[in-house]
Amino acid sequence: MNLEFEIGWQNGIVIRNNKNRLIFDPVSKSSILKEDIVFITHSHADHMSGFATSEAKYSTEESKNIYEKIREKTVTNFNPVKINQTLNFDDLQVTPLNAGHMLGSVQYKIETPNSSILYTGDINYVDTLITEKADAVECDTLIIEATFGNPTFIFPKRENVYVEIIKWSLELLKNDKIPIFHVYSAGKAQEIIKIFNEFTNLKILTHPRISKICKVYSESGVNLEHSELNYEYEIIKERSCVYVTLPSKRKLNFDNGVKAVTTGWVINDTYRYITGFPLSGHADFKQLISFIERTGAKKVFIYTGFKKAFSNYLSKKLGINAEPIPILPLRNLKEFLF
Ligand SMILES: [Zn+2]
Repeated sequence: MNLEFEIGWQNGIVIRNNKNRLIFDPVSKSSILKEDIVFITHSHADHMSGFATSEAKYSTEESKNIYEKIREKTVTNFNPVKINQTLNFDDLQVTPLNAGHMLGSVQYKIETPNSSILYTGDINYVDTLITEKADAVECDTLIIEATFGNPTFIFPKRENVYVEIIKWSLELLKNDKIPIFHVYSAGKAQEIIKIFNEFTNLKILTHPRISKICKVYSESGVNLEHSELNYEYEIIKERSCVYVTLPSKRKLNFDNGVKAVTTGWVINDTYRYITGFPLSGHADFKQLISFIERTGAKKVFIYTGFKKAFSNYLSKKLGINAEPIPILPLRNLKEFLF
């Protein structure tokens, strides 16, 4: 067989040539072969299973540290990567690039002797208070997420969402209520804390798991003023505060709290029974398109979200050669080699 390389989905994004098989963000330990080189883009649950394997793995130090706080486990056989520093695997070169999604998040650019591939992982293509927008670099083949790859999902300006969050909170506090944010412990929680740190003097109380992850942010230079709340009922002693807790913590141990969520999904009314703010760590529809155009990719594979619909939109409306990422058949690596 004389393929330069092959790309596809096999419980993770796989790129392989006749010497190496790289797997990006494997979704389970069982999807990893003994020969694999494992790359992790960031520490959200659907991307970080690779940390649990014994095989050699690559990610940023920050992603590894966040994983260790979330899972309370030590990562073994770990190789740290740094943004813009290229690694060599025979005739493949791998360069991590900023993804703008959360602390430590990266994309990976893979260069073969004749071609270049960019795998985005999850990306945000706008600056936030704690992250810079993703780098959109030129490539021949792009493998991109499409969580919000549907024209419905156009987010308002981030600054305006910040203002709405603060206005809503101040109004509640005026009426002796406590604003409660139910958010992801890694990424979103820290952005919410930063909004209040930057624009108000309000005291921020956090769930213990969120506090642990804030520690990784502080160690990386993102300072977040907050206090850990060990027992929720103690909140009644506070007069003016904001409480940042986990998505699963729906039942509160006090009466005067008012809940809110912050996610791109509020745009399509998924959260119609709760106050919601469209603050997302992902690129919206327009940002995805401008990111794709910027890369100049000749071939685009969509690996998640609105895979089919977004591929169709790109092909039919924009004339871009796009399709959902193909599923690779399970077969022995040795069979592929010769
Ligand atoms: Zn993510």
